[in-house]
Amino acid sequence: MSSPTLAPSPGPKDVVVKILLDDAGQIKAVPDPFWVSEGKDEKVMWVCTKENHQHGTADNPCFTVDFNTKDGSPFHGWHFSGHGASSGLAIKGGPYHKVYKYTISMSGKSCDPGGGVTP
Ligand SMILES: [Zn+2]
Repeated sequence: MSSPTLAPSPGPKDVVVKILLDDAGQIKAVPDPFWVSEGKDEKVMWVCTKENHQHGTADNPCFTVDFNTKDGSPFHGWHFSGHGASSGLAIKGGPYHKVYKYTISMSGKSCDPGGGVTP
């Protein structure tokens, strides 16, 4: 039996992006876009703010994050999933201040917020 994902506790270098699912079933990411600083070794932590639900397991996460446009990902990975998912460090050397579009999928819905890297 798998256990539910523990609530993450962001560290000082985590830029928290909250995933909201409103009453109309629309997903939003806050902030949109996010910015992480390469020089400060910042990472994104995506957290689910849906209440009264189990966040799912590694096999069945409550949301997924995909940097799968032609722009690719500003991070070393492009697919992340689950409450408290971490982007890992940004790829060094830019491009900076470029908004990468990505897709959050949750409960059969999706949205396309953005984010990027500053020096
Ligand atoms: Zn969740």
